[in-house]
Amino acid sequence: MSKQTILVAGSGFAGVWAALSAARAISLAGREGDVEVVIVSPEPRLVIRPRLYEAVLENMDPDVSELLAAVGVRHIGGLIQDIGVEGREATIVHGDGAVQSIKWDRFVLATGSRLATPPIPGLADHAFDVDQLVSAQRLDAHITSLGARAETAARNTAVVVGGGFTGLEGAAEMPERLRAALGSDAQVRVVIVDPAPQIGADMGDEAGEAVRAALVEMDIEQRPGVRLTAVDADGVTLSDGSRIDAATVVWSAGLRAHPLAAQVPGEHDAVGRVVGDAFLRAPAADGIFVTGDTVKAATDAVGNFTVMSCQHALSLGRVAGHNAAAELVGLNLHPYSQPKYVTCLDLGAWGALYTEGWDRQVRLTREEGKKVKQEINGVWIYPPAPDRDAVFAMSNPDFVIVP
Ligand SMILES: Cc1cc2nc3c(=O)[nH]c(=O)nc-3n(C[C@H](O)[C@H](O)[C@H](O)COP(=O)(O)OP(=O)(O)OC[C@H]3O[C@@H](n4cnc5c(N)ncnc54)[C@H](O)[C@@H]3O)c2cc1C
Repeated sequence: MSKQTILVAGSGFAGVWAALSAARAISLAGREGDVEVVIVSPEPRLVIRPRLYEAVLENMDPDVSELLAAVGVRHIGGLIQDIGVEGREATIVHGDGAVQSIKWDRFVLATGSRLATPPIPGLADHAFDVDQLVSAQRLDAHITSLGARAETAARNTAVVVGGGFTGLEGAAEMPERLRAALGSDAQVRVVIVDPAPQIGADMGDEAGEAVRAALVEMDIEQRPGVRLTAVDADGVTLSDGSRIDAATVVWSAGLRAHPLAAQVPGEHDAVGRVVGDAFLRAPAADGIFVTGDTVKAATDAVGNFTVMSCQHALSLGRVAGHNAAAELVGLNLHPYSQPKYVTCLDLGAWGALYTEGWDRQVRLTREEGKKVKQEINGVWIYPPAPDRDAVFAMSNPDFVIVP
């Protein structure tokens, strides 16, 4: 009898942990000879997306090939083009254009999310973003190149559009990044734009107030209550008719689930995520599990749901991978639950803001918050060393991500 296959799409936080967790479950059941785990992504690398707003883009895509090999997971380089929902046979397109089909018995969708880019004139041509490693590298090269330009107000100005977490983190880094490129005495101007009545409004009163005070302290201008209406090579136009001359425009307004989520039948939320059941199955698609940024799942019994975050992806991945394997090897399925929710927002030179709970109670600020952020960004979210026993000890579906 040929081996059964668990096919994991994507080697981000959810995909890597799904593959490790599935391998652990297969090993627990002593079924290594019967079931294999295959993970597909362009390269066997885990891109550390939460750090892409940072000024220095080093070690942002660690190689996970040894880690996967240590637990017997096979990596195939390429992009899944078609899940093959009906026939359980996915199509993979390789970098050279060659197409491969692969049969699966369980499929785990972990292809993440993408920055949404609405049809705003000039946005696609003139704005930068920090959503993927290549786009973050493009922004970095652009900022570095500003130093060679003649001084103008536009050269010294960056506009960040979107006051969510990514926009705030990107804006907070920007004064230092511009000064590094333009000289420490350059008159830099950084503006953050958001349609909400106040920047940080969706963070609640206490945390929002702290964010706004940090922006004032860092001399970052706040333009709430306005939308971006156009971008060109020299700046932006806003919905109140005003114009800001700026050589650097960073778009950071909203994520959408990866397009493959649309191939999964059943209910989707407003940002394209599949609404998963308690075991992270796609309820209308037999054999398919959805995880990471591609699933909307209840985190607790009191009405909270996953947000597109690394914090949730790390646990969602473990649960989806375990359950995909459990169905094949006869172990109990594990319900997803992650009642503790924290956020740690990097606010550049000010420090960082650490909150606990869905109501975002402020726990740590400034340097104390920054220490936590550095620990998260530098240690916690990185893949572990390729030691099979140690990896299995932390791949269980009830592993607590935030103690
Ligand atoms: C700048 C920035 C800052 C952030 N800050 C935070 C933060 O502070 N805290 C936090 O919790 N979260 C943060 N996030 C969100 C976090 O990065 C995501 O929620 C997380 O990466 C989701 O993990 P994932 O595994 O679902 O998807 P991803 O990490 O996006 O991984 C998707 C994987 O799928 C692969 N893939 C894509 N298409 C295909 C295909 N067709 N076939 C096969 N493979 C494919 C990709 O190559 C990748 O390996 C931030 C994100 C950004 C961009």
